[in-house]
Amino acid sequence: MADFIDPLKLPNMPELMIAGPGELHEEDLDALSHQVMAHYGDFWTQLHSETVALVTEVMGASEPAYLVPGTGSACLDAAIMNLFEPGQRVVVADTGYFGQRLIQIARAQGLEVIVVEVPPGEAIDPARIADVVAGLDGVLTVHVETATGVRHPIEQIARVAAEAGAACVVDGVASVGAEIASVDQMGLDALVTSSQKGLDGPPGLGMVALSASGRARVEARSIRPPSWYLDLKTWDWFRSEWGAWHPHPVTMPSNLVVALNSSLRRIFERGLDAWVEDRRLLAKRCREGLQDLGFEPIPSPGCEANLVVAAWCEDPAPILTHLLKEEHLMISGGLPPTQGRAIRVGLMGRTATEEMVERVLQGIESALTKP
Ligand SMILES: *Cc1c(COP(=O)(O)O)cnc(C)c1O
Repeated sequence: MADFIDPLKLPNMPELMIAGPGELHEEDLDALSHQVMAHYGDFWTQLHSETVALVTEVMGASEPAYLVPGTGSACLDAAIMNLFEPGQRVVVADTGYFGQRLIQIARAQGLEVIVVEVPPGEAIDPARIADVVAGLDGVLTVHVETATGVRHPIEQIARVAAEAGAACVVDGVASVGAEIASVDQMGLDALVTSSQKGLDGPPGLGMVALSASGRARVEARSIRPPSWYLDLKTWDWFRSEWGAWHPHPVTMPSNLVVALNSSLRRIFERGLDAWVEDRRLLAKRCREGLQDLGFEPIPSPGCEANLVVAAWCEDPAPILTHLLKEEHLMISGGLPPTQGRAIRVGLMGRTATEEMVERVLQGIESALTKP
């Protein structure tokens, strides 16, 4: 095993300012290193239900959210699978890399997809959705597209969907926790997120929140989804029948749940609105600093996201290399449609601080002035 990586002696890894995941806050690391505990019984059930309550609150839901081992994408699969039936027709905004993932998931589930193209950097125009939604069953969209750093107007899109009688499912992986994103108040049917981005938690958990109208759609299905694990009814059954001691169908990654709980408590101790405002101001500082260095923001004015600051960059590779070598930190390059043409700074987790943003900006400046 001489040439193998020794998992007990990992090298000193670079600090993360990438577009996800974020690094854990020190206190949450302690939760991760706790011994594995049984995923049933009084203590666990209380811990789990408190965590679910915090997740539910951060997603702005009135009925308890689903907390599912797997990532956000597993929950995108679940939301789409539970709200639609094969053969139904949905419109999906192609906002970039994660808009395209929604298209792929919908097609994988046998849905017919009508694609609305969205130019990189622009917010989805709800009128474009309105033009095609008549007679369709759903609208799928990302809230914050991580590839471009654009926040999309999901409230208006949800209104367009509702007026047409179509279900609205939103990928909030890069928004929940970093933006106000409420399944109820924004009139969505389902909102999905992950533990490792705006919630500052460890990777490995996904969440789905349904509104009352989303719940009604799940109840009104004619057939069960073609999955046991991702059928929300499986999760409902354990919640209602085994709720007192084992309120979920599978073994829960207890350490991840505890670390997420710890992280969510930090958010609510600050207050969700204040927390989001902090992120907004940090993103603004980062964006303006990059602009001062000559990098044009990708998002058009007014739709800049809080979690990921994305700017056009002709030659990102030397900048990323310089930051890694000289500052021992990582930011992200582009992702289709900005691949090779952008730098993106992720603001989440332990490193989402003014000091770290200044370090990134200074590091980039020195990369630019390097002989
Ligand atoms: C990161 C990300 C995903 C994928 O989330 P996973 O937890 O890796 O499955 C999906 N959508 C958006 C907008 C993201 O930023």
